[in-house]
Amino acid sequence: MSLIVAENLEKTYYAGEIVVKAIRGIDFTIEPASFAAFVGPSGSGKSTLLNMIGCLDPPTGGILTVADQDISLLNKKDAALFRGNTIGFIFQDFNLIPVLTVAENVEYPLLMVQNWPKQKRNQRVEELLSAVGMSDQADKFPSQISGGQKQRVAVARALVTNAKLVLADEPTANLDRKTAHKIITLMKDMRDEFGTTFIFSTHDPRVVENAETIFTLEDGSLLQGSGGNHA
Ligand code: ADP
Ligand code: MG
Repeated sequence: MSLIVAENLEKTYYAGEIVVKAIRGIDFTIEPASFAAFVGPSGSGKSTLLNMIGCLDPPTGGILTVADQDISLLNKKDAALFRGNTIGFIFQDFNLIPVLTVAENVEYPLLMVQNWPKQKRNQRVEELLSAVGMSDQADKFPSQISGGQKQRVAVARALVTNAKLVLADEPTANLDRKTAHKIITLMKDMRDEFGTTFIFSTHDPRVVENAETIFTLEDGSLLQGSGGNHA
């Protein structure tokens, strides 16, 4: 069973007189444990699409099913709950909380959604920091680590709740090429280790070398032939 099914999916923004068709009726499926990339220039609709998959912004047309849930049926509160239990997010500007340490940043989602005892939380945080190679930086603050290290912490934070799906919107945009490659490789290693589905967006075709499934977006439409298995 596919993890994500989109049928004739649309998103139109209305801002007064202005109508922007950001996603124009696209169809695709993504299987569990995929490592998939949406690639396209700035303005092609990547963030709009990831925001719909992440239940942050509802479609204006078509069908979108995530983990067997028709997301258009969720109200705001249920969408937040579904998101918290199912989806992890990674952002281009890392979005770590500056006043929390590395370990506290990774622990944060566990405080939000689940009532875990402290000892179990600590153990889980250690597991994830070790998985991303950041155990020795656990007590540092975000300002004391590099961009690549911040994104490692963000990967750990996205995975700490055992999310089925991680969405990463241009996760390498603020990293140099070599570090970008390392972060993509890390995400793939995490997919291999935990079976998590990763979907990332990028406007840099050079960072997609490691994606197994590549969807090419252009002006809100998927280019024909994209979405095949390029592994
Ligand atoms: P990308 O992430 O590929 O750069 P976006 O999904 O951000 O593309 O944007 C796709 C199109 O939708 C662009 O034309 C953008 O200006 C427009 N858009 C995005 N968000 C909004 C919004 N909240 N209101 C109106 N238009 C928007
Ligand atoms: Mg974007």
